[in-house]
Amino acid sequence: MTIHGYAAAEAGAPLAPFEYEPAPLAAHEVEIAISHCGICHSDLHLIDNDWGNTVFPLVPGHEIVGEIVARGAAVGEARIGSRVGVGWQRGSCGHCDDCVEGEEPFCPENEATCLGHFGGFADRIRLSSRFCFALPESMDSAAAAPLLCGGATVYTPLSVYGVRPDHRVGVVGVGGLGHLALQFARAWGCEVTAFSHTADKRDEAVELGARHFVATGEAGAVAAAAGSLDFLLSTACADLDWAAYLNLLRPRGILCIVGVPPSDLTLPAFPLIVGRRAVGGSVIAGRRRMRDMLRFAARHGVGARVEESSLSAVNGALTRVRSGRARYRIVLTP
Ligand SMILES: [Zn+2]
Ligand SMILES: [Zn+2]
Repeated sequence: MTIHGYAAAEAGAPLAPFEYEPAPLAAHEVEIAISHCGICHSDLHLIDNDWGNTVFPLVPGHEIVGEIVARGAAVGEARIGSRVGVGWQRGSCGHCDDCVEGEEPFCPENEATCLGHFGGFADRIRLSSRFCFALPESMDSAAAAPLLCGGATVYTPLSVYGVRPDHRVGVVGVGGLGHLALQFARAWGCEVTAFSHTADKRDEAVELGARHFVATGEAGAVAAAAGSLDFLLSTACADLDWAAYLNLLRPRGILCIVGVPPSDLTLPAFPLIVGRRAVGGSVIAGRRRMRDMLRFAARHGVGARVEESSLSAVNGALTRVRSGRARYRIVLTP
């Protein structure tokens, strides 16, 4: 059995056709015939070896949707023919405190889908059935693929930081992550404000769930919204005037970072102390929360807005994501 995909041979290289023979299907594994795989910004970071830990040749891809076509002897729930999704994580020890609590991303033995393993820019993949998630029937496969990493990344903070329906929530950045965050926050019941550099995305942000819109490039616009939010989720990958954004929070408000800015954050201590404000971060979702997220998204019609591209046109699609022109995610179809 040969798996056909696309791989980068070295850091920054264009992806080229790549084949490999997978290891025999283990007792706890399933084989998935991939129908869709989203392009996440983390895939670009892996291709460029920005984090210094990429293993080449690299087959990226960790927003996978497909159908189970084979299963090992010890696989319980997953059935042949089931449509499932796979996100960033493909393995964990299963018995540490974090695993037992459903917080598998923090397991010391956590394994990433396309780091040291061949990922989803391919026609098939084999991995542990524990990290395959059944997709609700009503979900469109292309719209669902980006939920598996991007969606999990913005859903988890609403859940773990105790965001309530009566809260006012800000989302910084209306892109791959932000356009999902707006939908989730509105479905959560919150009064949502979108922050984007220009007014270009105002109408779409409102359609996606924003009640208010702040064009942050306009002089004084951020300052005018001071003290208006209980929770602020930053999906931006840019260096911001963090003091000004912290100032958007009401007392006891929380700033949560999920986008990675190029520089470290510089924050004034006084607003944190006096207003008991807090700054935190968040990453993907454990298995339990992944299931909750998918159910919640299906119930509320939350899904990614995507452009579809064939896997053979992957390099053009990557260029489009790099330039920030994708609205809002690109999903590859093998
Ligand atoms: Zn990702
Ligand atoms: Zn563990």
